[in-house]
Amino acid sequence: MKASRFFIGTLKEAPADAEIVSHQLMLRAGMIRRVAGGIYDYLPIGLRSVRKVERIVREEMERAGAIEILMPGVQPAELWQESGRWEQYGPELLRLRDRHQRDFVLGPTHEEVVTDIARREIKSYRQLPVNLFQIQTKFRDEIRPRFGVMRGREFIMKDAYSFDRDVAGLQRSYEAMYEAYTRIFTRLGLDFRAVAADNGSIGGSGSHEFHVIADTGEDAIVYCPDSDYAANIEAAEALAPVALRDAGTQPLTRVPTPGRAKCEAVAEQLGIGLEHTIKSIVLAVDAPEEQGGEAQIVLLLLRGDHSLNEIKASKVAGLSGWRFASEAEIVDHFGTPPGYLGPIGTRRPVRVIADRTVAAMSDFVCGANEVDYHLNGVNWERDLPEAEVADLRNVVEGDPSPDGKGTLSLCRGIEVGHVFQLGTKYSEAMSATYLDETGKPQPMQMGCYGIGVTRILGAAIEQNYDARGMIWPESIAPFEVVICPMGWDRSEAVREQAGALYDALRAAGVDVILDDRGERPGVMFADWELIGVPHRLVVGDRGLKEGKIEYQGRRDEQASLFDVGVAAD
Ligand code: ATP
Ligand code: MG
Ligand code: MG
Ligand code: MG
Repeated sequence: MKASRFFIGTLKEAPADAEIVSHQLMLRAGMIRRVAGGIYDYLPIGLRSVRKVERIVREEMERAGAIEILMPGVQPAELWQESGRWEQYGPELLRLRDRHQRDFVLGPTHEEVVTDIARREIKSYRQLPVNLFQIQTKFRDEIRPRFGVMRGREFIMKDAYSFDRDVAGLQRSYEAMYEAYTRIFTRLGLDFRAVAADNGSIGGSGSHEFHVIADTGEDAIVYCPDSDYAANIEAAEALAPVALRDAGTQPLTRVPTPGRAKCEAVAEQLGIGLEHTIKSIVLAVDAPEEQGGEAQIVLLLLRGDHSLNEIKASKVAGLSGWRFASEAEIVDHFGTPPGYLGPIGTRRPVRVIADRTVAAMSDFVCGANEVDYHLNGVNWERDLPEAEVADLRNVVEGDPSPDGKGTLSLCRGIEVGHVFQLGTKYSEAMSATYLDETGKPQPMQMGCYGIGVTRILGAAIEQNYDARGMIWPESIAPFEVVICPMGWDRSEAVREQAGALYDALRAAGVDVILDDRGERPGVMFADWELIGVPHRLVVGDRGLKEGKIEYQGRRDEQASLFDVGVAAD
């Protein structure tokens, strides 16, 4: 590639709304440009890295026996109604209607569509196992798209789906994907960790996330440095059993959420009760009189994954005059390390103050969510038996590891991959069956496996940058080598030598760019350091007189000289 004919759009400054380094640098280097919230153009430099990630992912998926397909971005509502997710998915699902008033969704994931393929195409046990994957654009209407490509609304994902005859087969497919993921993230040159993503039944976890370790990561992960125990915070913590009572400070209200009536009608018809599980809690600590008696601190205690939408609509609105404490205020008040605390607005605003701390707290009112109900004006039931309080776990640094092999450490991670044993959830809901050896129909055992292709770019930068810009791992750098000629416009010798070098490197299969723009050295160097090309060759008259050219790795302090012939080799 020659720079004069390429598309370079570096910027001195990043827009003010770019909060983290990777977002700032991708904008400054001209990799991406914002089109709308969470929606980006990938300019040529950015796309080159995307394609390199895709290539590695594709190679390893194929090596693991998966077969590539391409499914549509626009999916008919009927499939989602069949699986039940048309009702369940919530506001992240972008729904659309065509000119005939038919409902569609913009696919956030493809379990429904792929299960539909399987039930049409797979008839016999002889066709199993099979693993289908695609690299495709997803849409999720994230409540707070941010950090550039890290949490976009439109983004590229590799998603794979395995179909097996039985649980043992599913486990084999799952392991093959786990191993493929390990190879992928290793080849991508990332510092990563696989963590259990659910509590796991006997016989191991049915879900793992792959996290790139970075302080800016939105997830908290827990691991034992002395063993291979590692889990995300949700899996690591047993969630507190919660009882609620009337706080007596404001009217207790219990409001059914939409959808509840329908469930109740069905339950009544079937003569069964509905389970109520407390999903989340809002705490407010009463303020001293001199501060007007207003609640000073409001914390959200959440179970699992909640959208902020839900939180805002159901609780905050019902609790007027309260506000969310900042991280500093929380730490100040409770003396709890901020490990995984966050103010409202972070994605998981409140992985709670330690339950142990809650258990020791006095005087507060809270709002809460049961499944399908919102409650206001209740109080956390703190008269739990001693044993149960001790059971309320919040993992803190130094806690004993569950495997008894050491103590736990916490760090932050960026979820770049997720492998999941689905079992027969979709195959049963959508009747995806095959005929076994005896001719009997059986539901297929399914697994699903995602990788955030575009998120990986952000994650890689969070791990590899300095004051001058990005430092790409070679495998996904937009270019592997840049040739910077000094005095392109002046010196015939430089042009000739740089050109020869360029040809030689290209012939050797190196992904090289020749900067023939005639820019000053300062501008050239700044651009390529910002873009993060891992290797730079400088060709100048001074060196050529001695038959030398200059090489500098992006992480090197100093350049070194090479004989022209050697460099061309
Ligand atoms: P998160 O917890 O970050 O919201 P998720 O668990 O919802 O991610 P999955 O459904 O597991 O995501 O999707 C598979 C992969 O797709 C994730 O591991 C992640 O790498 C990527 N991904 C998910 N959401 C986004 C997004 N909004 N922008 C970019 N990549 C994403
Ligand atoms: Mg998500
Ligand atoms: Mg997740
Ligand atoms: Mg996930």
